[in-house]
Order: sequence, then C-alpha cells, then structure tokens
Amino acid sequence: MPDNIHTKYLLGEADIPKSWYNIVADMPNPPAPPLHPATKQPVSPGDLAPLFPQALIAQEVSGERQIEIPDPIRQIYTQWRPSPLYRARRLEKVLDTPARIYYKYEGVSPVGSHKLNTAVAQAFYNKEEGVKKLSTETGAGQWGSALALAGSYFNLDVEVFMVKISYQQKPYRKNLMQTYGATVHASPTDLTDAGRSILASDPDSAGSLGLAISEAVEVAGKSGGSIKYALGSVLNHVLLHQTVIGQEAMLQMQQADDYPDVVIGCVGGGSNMAGLAFPFIGATLRGGPKTRFLAVEPSSCPTLTRGLYAYDYGDVVGATPLMRMHTLGHDFMPPSIHAGGLRYHGMSPLISQLYNEGHIEARAYPQNPVFAAAVTFARAEGIVPAPETGHAVRAAIDEALAAREAGEERVILFNLSGHGNFDMAAYDAYFAGRLQDHEHPEQEIAAAQSRLPVVK
Ligand SMILES: *Cc1c(COP(=O)(O)O)cnc(C)c1O
Repeated sequence: MPDNIHTKYLLGEADIPKSWYNIVADMPNPPAPPLHPATKQPVSPGDLAPLFPQALIAQEVSGERQIEIPDPIRQIYTQWRPSPLYRARRLEKVLDTPARIYYKYEGVSPVGSHKLNTAVAQAFYNKEEGVKKLSTETGAGQWGSALALAGSYFNLDVEVFMVKISYQQKPYRKNLMQTYGATVHASPTDLTDAGRSILASDPDSAGSLGLAISEAVEVAGKSGGSIKYALGSVLNHVLLHQTVIGQEAMLQMQQADDYPDVVIGCVGGGSNMAGLAFPFIGATLRGGPKTRFLAVEPSSCPTLTRGLYAYDYGDVVGATPLMRMHTLGHDFMPPSIHAGGLRYHGMSPLISQLYNEGHIEARAYPQNPVFAAAVTFARAEGIVPAPETGHAVRAAIDEALAAREAGEERVILFNLSGHGNFDMAAYDAYFAGRLQDHEHPEQEIAAAQSRLPVVK
C-alpha cells in the first residue's frame, strides 16, 4: 500500500462503550458548585427540576467514575457508532512532517456532528419522565438539528430559538430542523419576556446564544413541567455523554499501536473537546502518560485565553444558575462578521477548572488562518471540516509543523467534530476574501468584569 493512503481504524458494535466516563471522579479538586441566580447559594437538585429531568440532574452532580449507558441509547448509537478513527497520511505528506496525525471523525452521524451523542441521551431521559416537549437554543444550527432528530426518534416536540443572524445566514440548517419536525424561531422573538425586552431596546438585534438560552429557559420554566429545556454543551452531563468519543479513540489508538502526545479539540462550550480528551486526561491524572491537551478557540471569542475565571450567568438575562467558568460576560454580543459557531460567552465549568489548574492548554486563532487550514485538510483528506472544527485542524497542522521544525516525532490526535457541508456560505466568504480577522477588544473584557454578578 502506498504510504500516502490514509488508514482507517474501525471497531465493532460490541465496542461501543457501555458506560460514560465521568472525569469528576479523577479531578484533583471537586468542581465549584453552581449557584442559585437569586440567593447566590449552591443550587439544590430541586432548583433544577423545572428545567431538567431527574436522571440528567443526577448525572450533572454525580461523582461516579462510570455511568451506565441505557440499552435504548446504545441501540441508537449503533446507527453511526463506533465512529472511524483515521490516520491522516495524505495530510502528513503534504506537510512533510515526521508527526503522525490521527483524527476521530464525528461527522458520520446523520446530523453531521458529535451533538447527536448527547441529544439522543437527553431525549431518552426526558421521554422516560413523561416530558412532552423540549425547548432549546441553537447558534449555527448543529445542536438544533441534533435535538430535532432525537426528538423525532422519541416522539417529543422540539422548539428551537435560533440566533437571528444564523437564521438569516444559514437557512439550510433551519430547513434541516424543520425536516426533522422541529419548530424554529429567529431569536430574539416577541414570544418571551427576555426576547421582548431586548427588542424594545434594540429592534435590529442580531441575537446571541446567551439570549436564545434566556428565551428557551423561559419557555420551559413557565410550562409547569410539560416542557423541559435541553442544552447542547457546557453542562457536566452533556460533556459526560460525549465521552463515548474518547473511549472509542483509546481502543482505536491501541489498534494503531500508538498513543497521542497531544490531544486537540475546538471549544465552543467544550463538549467535543471533552468528549475526546476526558478519557485521556483521566488516564494522565491517574498517573498515566504525560499527554498534552489543547483547546482551540476563535480570537473573536477568546473565552479561555482572555476571558475572566469567575461566577457568571449562562444566559443574557440572568435566569440560569451561576457557574464558575471562563467568561467574556453574559451580555457578550459576538461580531456578526464571524463565520463559525464557537461564539458562546462562557465555557464548560469542568474545562475551565482543568484549564485553570494547568491540565489543559488553550490557543486562539483568527478565522482566515482557520479556513486556510480547513482547505488544506479538505484537499488532502476529502472531508470538509465545519468552520468550528477548522480551529482544531489549524492547531493540529501547527503542531505537525512544529514537530517538523524540531525534527521530532509527535503523535497528534484531534476531534473532527463535524463536517462543513452546510457551511459553504462561510467557505464562499473565505474564498471571496470577505472574512475579517477580529480580535476581541481589551476594553470589552474590562467592561464585562464590571458587570459580573456579585458573589460573596
Ligand atoms: C457545536 C459544535 C462545536 C462547538 O461546541 P462544543 O460543545 O465546544 O463541542 C464544534 N464543532 C461542531 C461541529 C459543532 O457542531
């Protein structure tokens, strides 16, 4: 076989993990508790009951290392899991690097990203507890389409608040959600108090994820229990569900008779990075190999590299519990010139804490170098990465080039969290030279600091 042909590592259905891996069991320090938005005291599981089913609340606060995956969820996982792991031999050749580059490909799910791993689990537990409908937000539309499909699998209605700028720029993702049977609104809407109050002060608001979350949470909170809220990232139980990715990747790296020196993921709320990395981080924390872990974010939304580490709300109006996390401020409005997702003001508290304690590194890139890397990757490997995923591709390529400079072997593993087949408008803007590289202004970080909620 010529050595520029990629190699694919496949597993059988029996290798789909039987449990999710909970990193809390291996973390040196317990996670900082979420606080009630009014009392600023640690939330009790009862406080979360209007929004989430009991089973997910239990997972959110669990310290158990392994949490069993119910059979019906594993059955559905067999549709696209185990996902393939590839060695990117063509890309290695193009880069002329001694590094070995591996990627786990989550774009094989029917919705084209990793998000279905948690959407199916969340829909399952809600259905079991008698919920009729789920409300949620979506930015670029990947999470909304994943939940729409999971809702269809479990006969749950799904109502999606889609950030208005994406609703306008990404009509096909909206159509995909509709195809799966979901109702989709452009957020801000006049259906909620949160939406109406923003529209009153800014009728042309392009929306933000934090605002769409406020709307979706309000709909669930006022429903008296028939509607629950679902979040596609950030929360502990969401990251937990994604750990099927890393557990499979560990088996596949064994097949390849290799082990990563660096594990890379792009981060919006942190779920795909956590999904791939947490099982490997757990191994390192338990005294295993000294692997590096690299989270990659956009310079226009540099939550880890430049954000504050503080208690902040998860949404714009302050309806969610406060979480201790890296944040750009809950009222952050992303620049609408940006092409990709990854524009949430906050970050998973687990990822934030691991970063703060030195177990994870972070790096930020402007979008033009990200698209350049995504195009290099597509020409070598065939798969067109989602713009979000392009950040991980950029970092993987830079690690491979650094290995070449240093003349050293380096084993690189990254998460190809989703394909970009619905994102051709963003590629079009890149090819036309219309993408602007935007750095988050320093004064906005200082201003956000002054608006953080006060916690005693
Ligand atoms: C949603 C999404 C992301 C960012 O979210 P995380 O929770 O950080 O993973 C990254 N890549 C793809 C393809 C996505 O759909």
